[in-house]
Amino acid sequence: MKTYLNPKPEQWTELAQRKTVTKADLNETVKAIFDDIQKNGIKAVKKYTHYFDGVSIENCRVTTSEIEDAIAQVSLELKNAIQVAAENITQFHLSQKEIPTKIETTSGVFCWRESRAIDTIGIYIPGGTAPLFSTVLMLAIPATIAGCKNIILCSPPDKNGNINPAILFAAQLTGVTQMYKVGGIQAIAALTFGTDEIPKVSKIFGPGNQYVTAAKQYAQQLGLAIDLPAGPSELLVIADATCDPEFVASDLLSQAEHGGDSQVILVTNSEEIVTKVTSAIESQKAILPRQSTVEKALENSRALVFQDIPTGIEFSNFYAPEHLILSIEDAESKIKFIENAGSVFIGNYSCESAGDYASGTNHTLPTNGYAKNYSGVSLDSFIKKITFQKLTSQGIQNLGPTIEIMAAAEQLDAHKNAVSIRLKKLQNG
Ligand SMILES: [Zn+2]
Repeated sequence: MKTYLNPKPEQWTELAQRKTVTKADLNETVKAIFDDIQKNGIKAVKKYTHYFDGVSIENCRVTTSEIEDAIAQVSLELKNAIQVAAENITQFHLSQKEIPTKIETTSGVFCWRESRAIDTIGIYIPGGTAPLFSTVLMLAIPATIAGCKNIILCSPPDKNGNINPAILFAAQLTGVTQMYKVGGIQAIAALTFGTDEIPKVSKIFGPGNQYVTAAKQYAQQLGLAIDLPAGPSELLVIADATCDPEFVASDLLSQAEHGGDSQVILVTNSEEIVTKVTSAIESQKAILPRQSTVEKALENSRALVFQDIPTGIEFSNFYAPEHLILSIEDAESKIKFIENAGSVFIGNYSCESAGDYASGTNHTLPTNGYAKNYSGVSLDSFIKKITFQKLTSQGIQNLGPTIEIMAAAEQLDAHKNAVSIRLKKLQNG
């Protein structure tokens, strides 16, 4: 972690740079697999599962007995923990439900907006070394609250053709309607076109490697919606003399462990804090199992010392972090100055892990500066909002002349006539 003292605004762009992964051009591979699956359906899906995951799958759909087996394999302790988290996530996302308000803009003219669920959605959960069952909770719970009818989960099978049991447990707990043993580009293609076994969806959610990300982008070109542009995870901590350097170090390390391309930034007003945090990082790091990942992430990480905390907050708004921790005096009174961030953790006891797992907020958040123009996943991500209006005879008489004048000025006479014809009939009784 390199330290910068009082970096000038001219340097900020460079300091806010994320590690750009030089991606091989995946578009051709993605297109070839999509074309094959569009033409040959589930047969092609199984072919790629055999090729990429090294396992032959006869039926992609996870059966009821497989789900029962999986549930039996998850420890009671983990089940209870997942249930506590699910309860909190449910509460928080339930609170996002909007009660439609009907307003009368002009006397006799009523306007309102109602939410409708996206009928069928896909949830992609990566397999491999870290089974992200927490992401199942973060996506399936709001989907269920929104009222999505079909919640389709895809996750790559292991060498024995199984999905991680904790993923299946979380899926059945949260109302996932169908689960499929399919991963990678072939999963996204199957969800895009629909096949004999796997249905077509309208929107795809969930993290993934660069292949999955490229496939989601391609699906978007074909008319599907996706949750967020994906990128490596990030954390920015703003800390002053009131912080606990050991806590700050633990938070920076927790984010660094996500991946070698993750980035953590320490923003402070004192060089002494940097020294204390750095030494705490050294001692805490020594016992972490994912040490090499952490070290890689720390290479793209920085400590920035500004003359004061307001300037640090200004930099944070410029950087637009996915996660922001405020370990500063009277932190809650400073949140009005936060303009760009995916999710904010206030005070010394609000660790980022709380939001990753169990406090209730969603952990699917905008990365790579997208916090400037995107929100994280919420109940809104699973619904569309439809506007409604009703004009009474009084309403059209009150508003009609305004519409007639505007339509005439735009030379759209048929529009004007749609009003005039009604007004005339009303005048004639
Ligand atoms: Zn995290």
